[in-house]
Amino acid sequence: MSDPRLEIRNLSRHFDASKAVDGVCLSLSPGQVTCLLGPSGCGKSTTLRIVAGVERQDSGEIHVDGELVSDGTSSLPPEQRNIGMMFQDFALFPHLSVLKNIAFGLTGSKLERRNRAHELLERVDLMGYGEKMPHELSGGEQQRVALARAVAPRPKIMLLDEPFSGLDDRLRDGIRDETLKVSARGWCCGSDGDA
Ligand code: ADP
Ligand code: MG
Repeated sequence: MSDPRLEIRNLSRHFDASKAVDGVCLSLSPGQVTCLLGPSGCGKSTTLRIVAGVERQDSGEIHVDGELVSDGTSSLPPEQRNIGMMFQDFALFPHLSVLKNIAFGLTGSKLERRNRAHELLERVDLMGYGEKMPHELSGGEQQRVALARAVAPRPKIMLLDEPFSGLDDRLRDGIRDETLKVSARGWCCGSDGDA
């Protein structure tokens, strides 16, 4: 049997006296979509932040495709984990055009980066918006650019932390469908919120 895409073993993190994350175990296969549900403050965001590498655990291990990414003592930096993040404050870089926002995390030649950014623009249905600046876009359009930016480097795993909570119901449904469609092309995705 193949390795799980993401495996979380016995993950714990405390802040002062309170245990934010207490012995979490989770194993996700490639292509699997999983949602973390629970009351506010139960540790969903902290768990996702540790998986992404922007927060450290006290103990426990994160494995991606069978490789140890972090334990209580060592940790790969976020940019080397091949994990895409879309968090609640999906802020785009305000001084960069839509196209440059999407191309931001890409590597390769200028032409390759440009082609990939255009491909993503098309996928989120924003062809012709490449030269616009973020402040010229509606909330839903900004959200789609953020989705394109997160997906562009072809992450193995996408983490979504309540990314739709700032949108009205109509937009939320559309973008949620779009996200699932884009995610269905090969990632497993840990999610937090009311998906
Ligand atoms: P959730 O996303 O499930 O609402 P969080 O993971 O954000 O919960 O928070 C879990 C607990 O950890 C909460 O009690 C929160 O106050 C606490 N917490 C989270 N981050 C920090 C931090 N950087 N410093 C201190 N306490 C924190
Ligand atoms: Mg949270």
